[in-house]
Amino acid sequence: MPFPIIDGHMHLATDSMVRKWTRSEQEESIIKKRREQFKIPRFELHSLQKTTELWKSEFNKYNIWKGVFLTHEPHNDEMLSFVKDTQFIGFTSVDPTEEDAPAMVEEDIRAGLKGLKLYPVNRGFSVSDKRCYPVYETAQALGIPVTIHFGVSIGYFSDLRYGNPIDLHPVARDFPDVTFILAHFGCGFLRESLFLSYQCQNIYFDTSSSNRWMEYLPYEITLKEVFQKCLKVLGPERLIYGTDSNFFPRGYRYSILQEQRLILDSLQISEEDQAKIFGENMARILNIRSG
Ligand SMILES: [Zn+2]
Repeated sequence: MPFPIIDGHMHLATDSMVRKWTRSEQEESIIKKRREQFKIPRFELHSLQKTTELWKSEFNKYNIWKGVFLTHEPHNDEMLSFVKDTQFIGFTSVDPTEEDAPAMVEEDIRAGLKGLKLYPVNRGFSVSDKRCYPVYETAQALGIPVTIHFGVSIGYFSDLRYGNPIDLHPVARDFPDVTFILAHFGCGFLRESLFLSYQCQNIYFDTSSSNRWMEYLPYEITLKEVFQKCLKVLGPERLIYGTDSNFFPRGYRYSILQEQRLILDSLQISEEDQAKIFGENMARILNIRSG
């Protein structure tokens, strides 16, 4: 690629991190069925050291400058040591309805993380709940972005009532200086995400994953049409490239990079604007100087 790439949506998953995810038998069996149904590749888990080496080598191979890695919990020591390497950027995650959430976010940011990821659907809370406001105040004070996974979620025990990005409207309006990034173009709620981004200039979308949510819409739409619409409404300044790369042996999802690059070329988006989507926007949000 003719410009530095920052992947805005990846996941760090080490052996010890994944072992901590406790699941009921019912949940395990549903996950197993879904893995088969969607042909999700099997994954291997490694120590932090090995995982770090693997990502280093993938970044070298595909010429990825930096990657934003999301986590599922605050105060993860492995995440904090992983981001000592400047190629890797880490976001923390909290349940923002908990009283000590603002303090946990602040501690993680002071320890080297650069943003916050929220999972309202998986954790079952409304982002506009006033109990979450102290966390947004903290994000504003620290100048960090907040990535949110709305919409369709692979977790069977999630709660779709909290999946509509429209729920973020009062928050985005009350915190105009906080950058809110909707993962996977709003993951199914494309119309609502576009409405919200029209209302609030601090709404960004990330382009990550295979975007399989398109299959659950009541009409046919291609990723090219999604890009076209989003470019029209948000412009190239508010789109953040991502792949949702997470496990090995699959490693870096380079095919997603190739696909999105081809789509943007076919839409005749200039190199200058593509450079924004593929890295400059995230660099600006995170105050990273180009190197
Ligand atoms: Zn993800």
